[in-house]
Amino acid sequence: METQNSSLGQGNNPEVDIIECPHCHHLMGYDDYIEVGDMSGQFKMDCEKCQKPFDVDFCSMFYFETEKLKEEE
Ligand SMILES: [Zn+2]
Repeated sequence: METQNSSLGQGNNPEVDIIECPHCHHLMGYDDYIEVGDMSGQFKMDCEKCQKPFDVDFCSMFYFETEKLKEEE
């Protein structure tokens, strides 16, 4: 079992929008685990497939697109 602290973006190849079980690599959705409005955090869950518990770190990202106002040409 790997003992590294799960930190986002540090060589652990975190998945976007999906939770991967660290035990059996089963992929799961996160809808049941994150409250709307949570920006980042940590929770514990059991794998749907192998039933083993694991910790999950998450953070959310915003994508910005800017545009000039029409009358400022
Ligand atoms: Zn699993």
